Amino acid sequence: MVRRLDNCESYFERDGISLLSGKYRCYLQIGKKKLYSDRRATRDDIKSMAERSKSMPVKYLTVGDRNYWRYDSRWFTDSDGHDGDEVRSLVIAYDLRNEKKLSEAKTVAAAKRLPDGSLRESIPGAVRHSVWERDGGACRSCGNKSELQYDHLIPVSMGGANTVDNLQILCGPCNRRKGASVV
Ligand SMILES: [Zn+2]
Repeated sequence: MVRRLDNCESYFERDGISLLSGKYRCYLQIGKKKLYSDRRATRDDIKSMAERSKSMPVKYLTVGDRNYWRYDSRWFTDSDGHDGDEVRSLVIAYDLRNEKKLSEAKTVAAAKRLPDGSLRESIPGAVRHSVWERDGGACRSCGNKSELQYDHLIPVSMGGANTVDNLQILCGPCNRRKGASVV
């Protein structure tokens, strides 16, 4: 399991020990939390880590049993001891999940909008009333009087309007059957 870290930045600094060796210690600032590595890196190490992290996850830090990876300008963490290839696969799976969620959210948002992008209006009260009167407060298909719904003959998504002529009363089961037969 790999988790994405937001508000994460790395920097390298010399400390007491690294002054002698000319090496740098890697720090990670995650929000208000600051972590640092026991390992020290040379200037060249740092350059090559940054370069490699563009195409592969690179382990920048290990703190306890937790690893911190930089990959494609993003930061990830895991505590399962994964190697770079595994982290890469997990990140790809993570991105796919997010893409799927995003397309689902877009579908829901689109269903709430008319084709021209404006928000779908609810059926005006007077129209509801006329339709109800005309259909006798019962399912127009089977006469049932429970679980009633206003149904658009031409769906709003296809340009159907909230007018008396384009609306009818259907019970839930008839409406679902209609929905299924349209598809
Ligand atoms: Zn019915």
